[in-house]
Amino acid sequence: MGLMVYNSLTNELEEFQPIHGNKVNMYVCGPTVYNHIHFGNARPVIFYDMVKRYLTFLGYDVQYASNITDIDDKIIKKAIEEHKTEKEVANFYENAFYKAIEKVGSKKADLIPHATDYIYEMIEFIQQLMNKGYAYEVDGDVYFRVSKIADYGCLSNQVSEELNQGARISVNQQKENPLDFTLWKKTNEGIQWDSPFGKGRPGWHTECVVMNHKLFQGQIDIHGGGMDLKFPHHENEIAQCEALYHHHLAKYWIHVGRLDLEGTKMSKSLGNVLYVKDLDSSVDGMILRALILFSPYRSIIAYSEELRLQYKKEYEKWQRAYKQALYELQYRDITNTENNEEYIAEFIEAMNQDFNVQNVLTLIHRIVRDMNIVLRENKWNELSKAFNSLKTILDVLGISLFIEKMTEEQLDIYKKWSKARKEKQYEEADKYRRILVENHII
Ligand SMILES: [Zn+2]
Repeated sequence: MGLMVYNSLTNELEEFQPIHGNKVNMYVCGPTVYNHIHFGNARPVIFYDMVKRYLTFLGYDVQYASNITDIDDKIIKKAIEEHKTEKEVANFYENAFYKAIEKVGSKKADLIPHATDYIYEMIEFIQQLMNKGYAYEVDGDVYFRVSKIADYGCLSNQVSEELNQGARISVNQQKENPLDFTLWKKTNEGIQWDSPFGKGRPGWHTECVVMNHKLFQGQIDIHGGGMDLKFPHHENEIAQCEALYHHHLAKYWIHVGRLDLEGTKMSKSLGNVLYVKDLDSSVDGMILRALILFSPYRSIIAYSEELRLQYKKEYEKWQRAYKQALYELQYRDITNTENNEEYIAEFIEAMNQDFNVQNVLTLIHRIVRDMNIVLRENKWNELSKAFNSLKTILDVLGISLFIEKMTEEQLDIYKKWSKARKEKQYEEADKYRRILVENHII
């Protein structure tokens, strides 16, 4: 059995079969760049980076797109507050975003569309929806006519009646139906664009559909994003796509859960926000990455200092085993790159079960334990295979341990230390030992 993924659209575990053979097109909703990203925002950035790495490891050719929402009410508000242009605000936080994701070991997406580069296409898209009766204009605002989509609510599994009740809370007299959402927003404040419907800017739900269509020209394989985007954002993306392109935008919808701080949703107004930029070091970034990746991806993570320390301990255990093996193999000049195929098969088996990371964590425990055993037993070939397997697995997960080989000089001391110990020249051995400790080799 190949890779099984939980599809939020069908609520079923399905075998992953891309639309175009070996090619995988994946789109993940990216950040609105008006602030620094916090640990909660980092979760999808880490998770989908791992998904891309794993699919690539399986041999797929993955095109991963993630957008930058560089126009939004929040950006306009910030620009006014800080006496800057929207572009200046967006550029600043976009750069901060790249620095932050690097800190947690995620690569940039292959394609990074910016909403403001597609305004013309969005206007055209909205015009087409209007021409076909899927949208209507009221006083410069354009709304999507939800009643025209028979299976509206298919993703969030809510029927229109339920949705209606929720939407009625904020009654907008202009709309035909409380569920109708904004495609074009008339604006008097901040940046605006000319359109046949008047000056304004596109709605967020339209941005992702239009950019998806422009980049991939058809249904994509995977659409990702946080669980909280399911409704209304993703539901509305699907509705627009159905209206004009007659498909559900993506074959597989994969949603990742929230990360809460001590049981409360992180929010600026509550003052309980942990920002990625404030992580002290790359090691701390990796510990956060491990914590996020090894938590079941659809569940909420209850982040706490206690949980972090647990992963720190784990991470340091991997580092110790890895380091010792690396140096012993270097000392013996063993450069074999072969894996232990049993470990790799187990890794694939776990990951193929909808990214069952708990089983992967158990496997890593076992590899580390086995490495320590074969090291004591001087089984260098086995050590080398276990070491290579651990490296392969951590690479796919994007977890770096930041341990390099010894320099020639350090290796020389290492050899002298080993020789002195063997020859029971304790004083001499101790001298070399001190140098190695100073160099963090042992
Ligand atoms: Zn989106």
